Amino acid sequence: MTKCFLCPRRCGVDRETREKGFCGEDARLRIASASIHRGEEPPVTGEGGSGTIFVSGCNLGCVFCQNHQISGGGMGRLVDTAEFAAICLALQEKGAENINIVTGSHAVPAIVEGVTAAREKGLHLPVLWNSSAYESPEALALLQNTVDMYLPDLKTLDTSIAENFFHAPDYPEHAAAAIEKMMEYRPPADGTKRVIIRHLMIPGYPESTRQVLRWFAGHAKGKALLSLMTQYTPVNQQGPGRFINQGEYETALGWLEEFDIEDGFYQELEPSSDWLPDFRRTNPFSSALSRPVWHWKDGFAGSGGPTRSGA
Ligand code: SF4
Repeated sequence: MTKCFLCPRRCGVDRETREKGFCGEDARLRIASASIHRGEEPPVTGEGGSGTIFVSGCNLGCVFCQNHQISGGGMGRLVDTAEFAAICLALQEKGAENINIVTGSHAVPAIVEGVTAAREKGLHLPVLWNSSAYESPEALALLQNTVDMYLPDLKTLDTSIAENFFHAPDYPEHAAAAIEKMMEYRPPADGTKRVIIRHLMIPGYPESTRQVLRWFAGHAKGKALLSLMTQYTPVNQQGPGRFINQGEYETALGWLEEFDIEDGFYQELEPSSDWLPDFRRTNPFSSALSRPVWHWKDGFAGSGGPTRSGA
């Protein structure tokens, strides 16, 4: 953290003295929201819902980010190790099936500390690492004993798409290597400790999806599940300005057959922005999708946990 090389951006800034690199965060952990979420893949949502914790900041910075208010927009609040642990325990108490840490790649050391403290205080749920996969082997090694299951994106293997949309032409090589490492850490024999690789289709770029599906068939079939996502929603002028259309959707489903990919999930096509989160609200998602447990403005919801504390 005094010369941050945590992720492939390798900014080299001193985050301990409050310097910030590409991810926009210093060494302290900021959280935007924690909730019981029902919109994840079936094994992640389970019966009770997934205990999602949304981390503020992001080391990838997709121009079309649907969580832009928290990934680059600054929303969130500092939490210390004790409060992070209390959030994990409140999610457990509210019936979450797991702790699902969303976009924490730039905050690995603080998260490892927080989960360790939560485990010491009685957290027994599996911990999921839900990330862009733009991660270094060193960061993944730090996480190895903390994380039970991985939920990485494989957004594209096309370097020009990665450059145009993420300002990271090296995303494909680092993400593919990170996912290989995750599959090595969590082989299928580990049962529930598995890897689900998510691919969000980008409107107008079907070849990128084909490339990812071909990679999955060659590298991950039998070792991970695939989650093909169609929920791209235009949020600004910088990304494609439309939803996935029926033709793109059907073509992608055809490729699943062509590459003989059977293990996993695909979303139905629902071109609507109804479910887009708004992190200004205590419940950023619709009430059908999520139940709030902690929010950056309000602290713990209801009487389920300690009152607001920390910075
Ligand atoms: S974690 Fe942040 S500061 Fe560190 S290298 Fe990555 S983007 Fe830069």
